Amino acid sequence: MMPRKIAFGENAAKEFEYPENSLIITTTTPDIYNKWLDYMGIKKYEIYDKATPDPAIETVETIQKNYEGKNISAYIGLGGGSSMDVCKYLGKLTGIPKILIPTTFGTGAEMTTYAVISFEHKKKLLQDEAFLADAAIVDPYFLPGTPFNIMRNSACDAAAQASEGYDSNLANPLTKLFCREAFDILEDAIVNDKPNLLPYGAMLSGIGFGNSSTTLGHALSYVFSNEGVPHGYALSSCTTVAHKFNKSIYYERFKRICQKLKFEPLKLKQPLDEAAAVIMPDRGHLDNNPIPVTKQDIIKCLEEIINDNPLA
Ligand SMILES: [Zn+2]
Repeated sequence: MMPRKIAFGENAAKEFEYPENSLIITTTTPDIYNKWLDYMGIKKYEIYDKATPDPAIETVETIQKNYEGKNISAYIGLGGGSSMDVCKYLGKLTGIPKILIPTTFGTGAEMTTYAVISFEHKKKLLQDEAFLADAAIVDPYFLPGTPFNIMRNSACDAAAQASEGYDSNLANPLTKLFCREAFDILEDAIVNDKPNLLPYGAMLSGIGFGNSSTTLGHALSYVFSNEGVPHGYALSSCTTVAHKFNKSIYYERFKRICQKLKFEPLKLKQPLDEAAAVIMPDRGHLDNNPIPVTKQDIIKCLEEIINDNPLA
């Protein structure tokens, strides 16, 4: 599965014909998005800019209520993952088409059937065919404003997703084709300093892993996320160690990407045994890992992550 229409490359967002009376949803501020909207040349639109990172279901419901009966023709999610997640959920509720435009490339979320929404202050990863975009627009125009740290974490996430997705038990020749191509492009973008290639690489990664799954590296990373480590940063060491455990063809290449991005080693406050107990029930990731994983394996991986600096 992938969006019905995909526009990508330089000027993609400028040349796209936006339907009139669209509702743009964004987490950014007018000084930033007014510049974007000028570039896009969009006319006759409504804008909702009160969406926040880690969006809650209440935000989605508020927007639905505020714009009921206003003949909104499409939702346009413009921004990072949060803007797009709100759009995805709204589209599912109302059936109104959605156009997704990522500005902080990395997750490939514009391509997938996943959305992260908080219910009662708990983040939930949801999957639904109804979350799929009607159109996705991937344009490197938005890249230069991205702070280095966000860019670095996103690039690492995209590379982790592509390589874990390649190894996933759910992979097939078509998803592998996307994952392999995504990784080649992302590696070139990062190692050879060609950031303009990142958006396209992340997009391909989204199609590849979105139709297979991520695996052990992602499963390991969430105990670090729970202690506040950004997702992409947590993956630098976690996916490296997971690739080593899986004897992945991507082990050395992924490690080199993380070294180039200069990620620091990770720390964990929680005792390893407790952390392993949190990771073990994550069957969505672990059951798709190419090699079966025991609790003992997880403890060994965590030990390596925090004691041995796997990126050295
Ligand atoms: Zn990820």
